[in-house]
Amino acid sequence: MDAPSTTQVQQVREITRIERTGAHSHIRGLGLNDSLEARAVSQGMVGQLKARRAAGLILEMIKEGKIAGRALLIAGQPGTGKTAIAMGIAQALGSDTPFTAMSGSEIFSLEMSKTEALTQAFRRSIGVRIKEEAEFIEGEVVEIQIDRPATGTGAKIGKMTLKTTEMETIYDLGQKMIEALTKEKVQAGDVIAIDKASGKISRLGRSFTRAKDYDAMGPQTKFVQCPEGELQKRKEVVHTVTLHEIDVINSRSQGFLALFSGDTGEIKSEVREQINDKVAEWREEGKAEIVPGVLFIDEVHMLDIECFSFLNRALESDMAPILIVATNRGITKIRGTNQQSPHGIPIDLLDRLLIITTKPYELDEIKQILKIRCEEEDVETSDDALNVLTKIGKETSLRYSIQLITLSSIISRNRKAREVSIEDVKRVYEVFLDEARSSDNLREYEQYFMFNDLSNTKQETE
Ligand code: ATP
Repeated sequence: MDAPSTTQVQQVREITRIERTGAHSHIRGLGLNDSLEARAVSQGMVGQLKARRAAGLILEMIKEGKIAGRALLIAGQPGTGKTAIAMGIAQALGSDTPFTAMSGSEIFSLEMSKTEALTQAFRRSIGVRIKEEAEFIEGEVVEIQIDRPATGTGAKIGKMTLKTTEMETIYDLGQKMIEALTKEKVQAGDVIAIDKASGKISRLGRSFTRAKDYDAMGPQTKFVQCPEGELQKRKEVVHTVTLHEIDVINSRSQGFLALFSGDTGEIKSEVREQINDKVAEWREEGKAEIVPGVLFIDEVHMLDIECFSFLNRALESDMAPILIVATNRGITKIRGTNQQSPHGIPIDLLDRLLIITTKPYELDEIKQILKIRCEEEDVETSDDALNVLTKIGKETSLRYSIQLITLSSIISRNRKAREVSIEDVKRVYEVFLDEARSSDNLREYEQYFMFNDLSNTKQETE
């Protein structure tokens, strides 16, 4: 894996990423300070200080390109922020870092082989940053008209006449022209380049052809001759796509429309080989670089021995993404074998994993997370209602009380209230069951449920 350059690392801090998963849209990073200690509440993250600090160290390893061949395991009870921490790592890696989240059980439900599903997940998590040259209109500024309004101080930008090789064009570029005049100090006689896509103006230098005119204007006019070749200067444009997207676009049987339906089917190994060769060529020519993303596999104990072998091998590849797996299981059977092991993961793979644990939240942490979620969902709640939601979160699950925020806000909106009240929460709490009450309910009305018949039939036939 390539070590990320320092500029990339700097960019990471400035960029807020586009959200990919609604439930975690409030997570903007790991919320660490400069010495990698977790702040109590920061970047949407609350508590779980030890795990976040550990994740921060992993992040440093990733940035230094030292994670290859290893992976991260986050072990902890449901709803203790395992996915949130994985998301935080991806966020902190930068805006164009691919993040794929999947559950171990998905591997078995897709209409493709297990290894194909895993290969696709891996390639979805590897970005290819492609550098392209932008197209420019280049020309010499003939005239800039600035209209000064009768009142007020600001100048209103009028028009700019540009002479290109083919024609003389009048540009009315508004804001871009203001930028050009203030930042780039463009004036008549300059040679400029206008980015065709964005309209951005860059000043390349003074016109050589008009040098005489400017000389004639007297000594106050500074004439700067363009250094040779400068007029040919081109700006780079960068896009990041995933390896999987390149595979699909180049797969004759799928075509790029499959990217919209998500139904990409199996991709031939020859296509992938060709793409790998092409990307390697681009890397050598300096046209592309690999952006290792994050592949998060929740419920990793649901994978079987074949999938674990695949992961073991895939981690060795120089194009592997950062693999983060999570589980809430202790010692359990490795699927597809009769052996037991910690978290249901074979020992050889376990040996390569760095393990972080998450612990259940305290009441004030739950309250803080719920408060952040309310802000994220634009829901006003009364203090009492928030306290009740917090208590529900502690007694049932954090996820359940997060769900109640949206539901109770619908009820409060219906009665045209500005904020969610205790009554709204109470109503949705009665209508929607949490896991424990749902189980009680099942036990109480067992005989009325259909699957009960099935187990009876099974018993009868045995
Ligand atoms: P499971 O084992 O069921 O997959 P999990 O441990 O991955 O659960 P999450 O999905 O990360 O749990 O957490 C549940 C919800 O609570 C999510 O919306 C998540 O963003 C939020 N959340 C969890 N922990 C934190 C935290 N420390 N700070 C902020 N939000 C959190």
